[in-house]
Formats: sequence, C-alpha cells, structure tokens
Amino acid sequence: MLRLQTPLPDRYRNASPDELDAMIAAAKEALGERVFILGHHYQRDEVMKWADARGDSYRLSVLAQERPDADYIVFCGVHFMAESADVLTADHQVVVLPDLNAGCSMADMADLDEVVEAWEALSDVIDTDRLVPITYMNSSAALKAFVGRHGGAVCTSTNAREILEWAFTQGDKVLFFPDQHLGRNTGIAMGYRHEDMAVWNPRQELGGIDEDQVRAVTFLLWKGHCSVHQRFQPAHVEAFRAAHPDGIVVAHPECSHDLCSVADQVGSTDFIIRAVAAAPEGSTIAIGTEIHLVNRLAAESPGKTVVSLDPLVCPCSTMFRIDGPHLAWVLENLVEGRVVNQIAVDPDTTEWAKVALQRMLDITQGNPVSEVRDPATDSRALPV
Ligand code: SF4
Repeated sequence: MLRLQTPLPDRYRNASPDELDAMIAAAKEALGERVFILGHHYQRDEVMKWADARGDSYRLSVLAQERPDADYIVFCGVHFMAESADVLTADHQVVVLPDLNAGCSMADMADLDEVVEAWEALSDVIDTDRLVPITYMNSSAALKAFVGRHGGAVCTSTNAREILEWAFTQGDKVLFFPDQHLGRNTGIAMGYRHEDMAVWNPRQELGGIDEDQVRAVTFLLWKGHCSVHQRFQPAHVEAFRAAHPDGIVVAHPECSHDLCSVADQVGSTDFIIRAVAAAPEGSTIAIGTEIHLVNRLAAESPGKTVVSLDPLVCPCSTMFRIDGPHLAWVLENLVEGRVVNQIAVDPDTTEWAKVALQRMLDITQGNPVSEVRDPATDSRALPV
C-alpha cells in the first residue's frame, strides 16, 4: 500500500550515529513525560535503545492506553500497530509513526474492499449469519472495524485458539484473515484436519474454490502470509538438528504448518522470549522469527546459544525502515510543536475496531462478550 513519506532534511540524512543519538536524547529530554516511545521486538537496536517500552503490537497499544499523560505516542513499529494504538488511546493523544512507508506486507494482503467482496460472494452460497470473521491483529483498522460490525473479533498469535473456540460458539464457520498460516496452525492444534480448511484467494472468483467446498469446510483461510516467517523451511530444522542433535527449535505460528509440525515448540513472540528464558543453561536454541529479536535474545541470554533457524534470514524490511534519522526527525518536530506523520483513524472506524478488540479482551478475560453489531451492515444486528 502506497504511503508517501516526506524525504528527510539533510540534517538527519547526513548525521552520524553519535549526532543522531545526541538529537534524540535532547528531544526526549525536552519532551519529558509528554512523549512515550514504543519499540516493537523486531526493531533495530539503534531505535530500540530509545524505547520506553518494548513488546508485541497488542501489548504496546495497551501500554500506550495506560499512559494518558503522554500527549505523543511515537510507535516504532509498522502502520497497523500505530493504527491500533490510535484506536485504543484517548482522543487527546497523538500517535506518530516515524516513517509512513513502514507498512506490513501481510496486513496489506487483505484490504477492506476485498474482504467486503468476499463476504458478499459467500453470502450467495452460505448463510453468513453462521460465518464468523476473525482478523489477526496484523490488519488494518478498517478490517478490525469490519469484524466488529459483523460479530467477530480480533486475535493475536497468543490467543488465536481461545478466540477461535469462542467463534465456534457463535457460528459454524470462520473467515480468518489475513494470515493463512496462523489460522491453519491454530485450527490443526484444535484438532481440525487440512480437509476442514480451504484457502480463499481474493484474486479469483469465489476465492478460487467451488461452492461445495465453501459449504463443506469449517475454515476459510485468507491467502495471506508474512514474507519473513514464510522463509523458514523444514530443511532448516533438519540442518540444525544435524549440527545440534540436542538443540531446541522454537517457531512462530506465522511460519508454515510444514515447519511448525517439525518444530519442538510453537508460539507467539512473547512465548518465544519465555521459551528462551526457560531453556536449560548451555542449550542451543534455533528460532524461527524475525532476526532482530533473535539477535537481541542471543545478546541477552548469556550461557545459551540462540541462533536464527535460517542462517540467511533477512529482517522485516518494513520494520527496518524505522531508523535513527526518522526517529530524530519526528521527535525534533514535536519539540518545535509540529506533529509529523500522525496516524489518525476516523471515529466510525475507531468505534467498530474497538468493538472487535473489546470482544477479544472479553473472551480472553472470561467476561460476557458484547453482542452489538452494526445495524447498517449486519442482518443479525441487535439494537445498540
Ligand atoms: S514480520 Fe511479517 S507480519 Fe510482522 S510486520 Fe514484518 S511483514 Fe508484517
């Protein structure tokens, strides 16, 4: 998705790392408690060292929500994360993404028009009152709002199973987007078979599957993936085990099922961090996730050897766009009273995205789940 980032002034582009550090430190000092810098686990170290909080996308948005005194939330991550932070924070808080071109290729694989088209096409074949839309956190605010309007929920890689179990109390089928791998890995862990799932290709008529299949399957998995996690292959596990017979393989559920089925452990970013902490001293652990987190875990885990499962793995190129020059640029502008690169979600989208996020929270916290739906778009809508 094209987002236009203003070219940075020479002052930032030509600055040395030490000069950038000095600019960022001075701006942070001047802004004090008014600025809260969030660093996603996949950020490079030159950025991460300035983060007031580290975490995955959802945890960072919640942390921002818990800091109402911070007027400015500088989100060192990608676009959908900054949107989620804007949805969850108070109206007076401004969310800034240091580089507007820091998108997420997976989130961009499902846009609102495609999902609306898919829903309409499915409604010609099945009763969409029994179809529950579930979107991964890694999606635009517009898709979260679609899900909120249609009685579905957001999920993260930590709680996907709980959310899907809830979904099957609401209907018979799930439309899961945008990551087919998280949907497939979770469904199989729940006891479903590959035959219970079909991949929905938004570029083909009726998703590239026939009507009988639409009626038969339980999971319609959007044809989306993470280009970083999809690189890990079973051959990498074989090579690692040949070199380290006692080694431990831990993979993120955005990896393919072929890979996850041969890993020792599979779990979210937080799970991976805990798995490394829990591994015995002296162990060798190969991780199937983004390289900056792997390298950081290696540096912060003395007594253990932590390596990337794929020795040639590349970083998430969109996360990598956030760098020292862009961070210095947004912070110095804030000091001058100028907001650059604000990420603002419109009020209607915010309202319905919040509904989908709140359902996720209610499900995971065991609270009664909101039944509200949008009367304008959902035939099952109850009065608000
Ligand atoms: S690692 Fe994958 S899912 Fe995460 S931001 Fe990068 S492209 Fe998106």
